[in-house]
Order: sequence, then structure tokens, then C-alpha cells
Amino acid sequence: AVSSSKMLSPTQFNVRFKMPLQHRTLASIAAAAGSTGERDSAVLHRSLKTPPMLVVSARERYLTFSDGHEILDSTCGAAVACIGSHNERVKKAMIEQIDKFSYCNSMFFGHPIGEELCAELIRGTDGAMAKAYIMCSGSEAMDSAMKMARQYFTEISPKENKRVNFIAREGSYHGTTIGGLSMSGHVARRSLFLDMLLPNIHRVSACNPYRGMTKGQTTEKYVAQLADELDRKFQEVGPDTVCAFVAEPVVGATLGCVPSVKGYFKAMKAVCDKYGALLILDEVMSGMGRTGTLHAWQQEGVVPDIQTLAKGLGGGYAPIAGMLINHRVADALKSGTGANISASAFSHGHTYQGHPVSCAAALEVQRIIKEDNLLTNVKERGELLTSLLHKHLDDHPYVGNIRGRGLFWGTKHPFPPSFGVANLVHTIGLKDQGISLYPGTGTQDGINGDHVLLAPAYTSTVEEIEKIALKTKLTIDQAFEKLQ
Ligand code: PLP
Repeated sequence: AVSSSKMLSPTQFNVRFKMPLQHRTLASIAAAAGSTGERDSAVLHRSLKTPPMLVVSARERYLTFSDGHEILDSTCGAAVACIGSHNERVKKAMIEQIDKFSYCNSMFFGHPIGEELCAELIRGTDGAMAKAYIMCSGSEAMDSAMKMARQYFTEISPKENKRVNFIAREGSYHGTTIGGLSMSGHVARRSLFLDMLLPNIHRVSACNPYRGMTKGQTTEKYVAQLADELDRKFQEVGPDTVCAFVAEPVVGATLGCVPSVKGYFKAMKAVCDKYGALLILDEVMSGMGRTGTLHAWQQEGVVPDIQTLAKGLGGGYAPIAGMLINHRVADALKSGTGANISASAFSHGHTYQGHPVSCAAALEVQRIIKEDNLLTNVKERGELLTSLLHKHLDDHPYVGNIRGRGLFWGTKHPFPPSFGVANLVHTIGLKDQGISLYPGTGTQDGINGDHVLLAPAYTSTVEEIEKIALKTKLTIDQAFEKLQ
């Protein structure tokens, strides 16, 4: 590790490395990864020049690579493996389901394990939501949410047929399919496909106090400013043409764990209510316990009309995602006047929807979270992680902001994306410090700098949290030592 005194100030750093750094950083990332592209692979990996390290086994929260190197998975992959990746109970539940039957067409048939899982999901909302729909990925869930919102309005009255627009936020991520990506405000992931994204998505600012609040501004004033912006966007788009406002309760991949400020979602919901639009909350990353309650909206004093979930739902044991709809939406579907009046059904379907083995895995993961009281662990370990990150990084010259909720934390480095800082931190974490740090690259417009995201397992021990916090600091120090 390097001491802060040896480091260049951010300004000195920027001046010194303006141009050459970009090349130097990319070269050092490749070298540090030890990946020269020599290993041939038939897989269409993220990089065809530098195939990634191969994971060959796991124990609890640790992953082992083919060269024997082991890391503590402090991000649960992409905030997924919340109870570790080797749970005997989940394995048994999946096998028991396969022993009964592995697949049936859940578009036509129901099955007991799907009934049980959906009932459990509805119970987890204290009855605020009415029905659950099970799919395979977060992107599918977000596309489904869009279609459900649209169908809701066609069901309630022919007069509402004009509602085809959505208002989403900057700095958001809602998936990689055309619908999900169209709603996303992730500049880099959208850039190649701009011409083919949906035209009916409009955008307002994210709730991002670190970047968005002006000096001396109160939280109340900031919320009022954002609510006013949303109100003006409704007016601009045409209030009677908007289906829904779409947001992540805690922004994940794009900004790096940014919770909203107090009162934000209540204010946004009030604007939606004023114009009769729905509130869609994307809990793909923040949901199923990650922030200390089963759903992050349970800390916001609002209930969404439609919500999605995915990652912590099945904990990575099988691909699974969900969409929950509240009574307002479910009732409209049931007694609607739209095209599907005879079926009273959602006009949508996937071959693998409600997959029985995925349902068995998710139901067992959710039972374990409940029976082992893991939400208490999330809160307690989350508090420890918060205090340790502040202890290690508050005075760090290259860490601009530390924020999060529960076991969902991010640190931001105020550097231009071309520096590749987050990727370098990721590589050093893996190779030298034995932890995974989920890298997030800033936007080309420079509004959002590089950040790293932490999402440890709900089952993490005190020692592991201490290790994660310390290793995060050591990794960041080492990255900047390399760059100087
Ligand atoms: N929504 C959010 C908030 C996400 O974080 C993600 C993925 O990271 C998605 C949607 C897309 O989910 P998936 O990658 O499972 O399609």
C-alpha cells in the first residue's frame, strides 16, 4: 500500500497523466490480468482479446480459479449469490423438484412449487402486491413491466389508449434487452444502439445528492426540485400519454449504490398520482433483502404499482426473476375492457416462465433468508461495513464519496472514464488482494466518475466484512501507486 502523502493530489494527477495515462492504464490492466489472449476459447467472452480467468469451484463465499487462486467474492458476482454458492438445502430442493418433473409449460399449466413461491413473494410485501409473475432475467422482468403498464391502461378504459410514454431517469440501468436498455440511462451501454432504442422513453435527473445537490441546499429543497422536474416532464410529454415513471430505489450498476434522499419517492409518487400514471420500481439489484428489508421500497413509505426483482431471488442457483403487480393493476387485468377481456390475462409469455427448478431454488433461498434471520445480518454487517469504509477511505485523496444501504455499498473516484480506473481497481483486487470489486466506469460526459460497488453475501462473517473493507482500501492504494 502507498501512504496518502506519497500520492499526487487529484489535480496534480490529472495534469500529469492527461494523455499518456489512457494507454498506460489499458496496458497495465492487460498485464495485471495475466491474460494475454493465448488461451483459445469458443466462448464469446466480454473481451475476445483477453479471455477471463476460469472459475472451477466455490466454497461458501469464496471462488477458486483454474490456477488455484482463490478470492473472497465481495460482490456476490453481480449482487447475486447472497447466501453463497454451495448451499446443501438449495441443492436438495432443486433435486427433489427434478425428481418430480423438471419442466412443464407454465404458460398453460400451474405447478405447486410456483404457487408456493409466488404466495411467499406476496406475503413478503405484507399483501401490498397481489400477483407475481416469474421469468429468467432482470431484463425480461423490466420489459414485462413496461408491457404490463401499457396493458393496464388499455384495460381500464379506451380513453387511456394514448398512454404509451415512460419517464425514466439518467444514470439508471434497467437491462440489456431493447426495452430495458431504452429505459436505461447508462450512456456507455446505450451508445452503440441509440438509433434502434425505443422513442417513447423520456428522462429526468437521477436522485444523486453527491452530484446533484447544490452547496447549502436542504434535502427538502432538492426533493422539491426533482419533483418539479418530473412534473414539468409530464407536462412536456403530455400527462395523459404517460404510462409510468420508472426508477431503481437504490441505483446499482450505473452510479454505484446511490440511495435516494428521504422523501424522494413519496414526492415522485405524488406526481405520478396527480397524472394517473403508474410507479414502476426496478428492484432487480436492490430487492430481496440486499438493503436490509426485503424490498427497498419498504424503507421509502411508498408502494409501487409494478416492481421487478431478480438477483437475490434465486441467489444464483438458477436463472430467475420476477414481476409483482399491486391490486390496482391485478384488478384491472381481471375485470378489464381491453383486448384480453376473454382471457383476463397478461398478454405476454416466455417458454421458460415459472420454471419449476428455478422456482424450487428461489423458494429455498427465500426460506433460508427468513429462517436464518439473514435480514438482521444484512443490517448488522451493513453497519459494520459502513463504519469501516468510512474509517479506511474518508480521507483518501482519490475517493470522492462513500454511500449505500444494507450490504450494498459504493465508492466513487472522480476520474474521467478514459483513465480506466475502476477496471484497474477490479483487476488488482482479483489478482493481488484476493477480492472482487465490481467496477463501474464513469460516463463520457464526465458527470459520473469511476466507481466500485460492494455487495457481500448476507451470510458474511464479521471477519469477512473487515477483510473486504481493508482490502478495498489496499486495492485502491495499489491501483493509484501503479498509475503514478
Ligand atoms: N435492472 C437492474 C437494476 C439491474 O441491476 C440489472 C442488471 O444488472 C437489470 C435490470 C438487468 O438484469 P439482467 O442482467 O438479469 O437481465
